[in-house]
Amino acid sequence: MIETKDFIFVISAPSGAGKSTLIAKLMKEFPVLSFSVSTTTRTIRPGEVDGKDYHFVTDKRFDELLAGDYFLEWANIHTSRYGTSMDSVKKVLLSGRELLLDVDVQGGEALREKIPDAHFVFIVPPSFKELESRLVNRQTESPETLAVRLKNAREEMKSASLYDFVIVNDDLEKAYQDLKTVYLACHMQANHVIPKLNYDS
Ligand code: ADP
Ligand code: 5GP
Repeated sequence: MIETKDFIFVISAPSGAGKSTLIAKLMKEFPVLSFSVSTTTRTIRPGEVDGKDYHFVTDKRFDELLAGDYFLEWANIHTSRYGTSMDSVKKVLLSGRELLLDVDVQGGEALREKIPDAHFVFIVPPSFKELESRLVNRQTESPETLAVRLKNAREEMKSASLYDFVIVNDDLEKAYQDLKTVYLACHMQANHVIPKLNYDS
């Protein structure tokens, strides 16, 4: 059901790199972009809204969804499970909007196989020290989950070269301008829009 003309933007990053912050800015400027709401077994953070940020489910429910072939892709990440459902993808594409998928590197790899015409962007922090300080300041992680996220970040960074674009999020405004440039350039790729030219006149 996913067609070549569908515009699909896949963004990955190690946790704390600033992906959610950058995505929020992009979606504010380009409201045609719509986020596919993933399903997760992670606990809800203060400020998050069930059904908007994620569909928060129990492990048992996730098992049931898996058994029902509900996911386009899913992965074990940090200490929880996360999945992109076909329903959430369809909901966006059938509404004629552009699809934004926020997935980890395992999801990125799976989607590369399933949707080769999508555009793949990887966000990196300027350093591991800065990554740690951003995660600590965000105050969303326990000491245990913080340690897991930092350990996984080193592995995830190795996947950066598999992406079409890598953006360093040091200065937020500069990183945002880079992301916007990539987004606009992807719209000009021939697989998305082939203009009809009249060569006779
Ligand atoms: P991710 O979604 O990649 O886990 P977030 O967008 O939640 O990361 O960002 C992690 C934290 O770092 C947040 O508190 C955010 O406000 C902050 N942050 C994001 N980008 C920058 C930046 N360029 N400089 C400093 N802090 C940043
Ligand atoms: P967080 O717990 O910080 O919201 O997300 C942790 C990681 O899970 C991030 O790297 C995010 O991109 C990833 N993630 C969120 N939803 C999905 C999904 O549906 N599939 C996959 N593979 N990763 C996801």
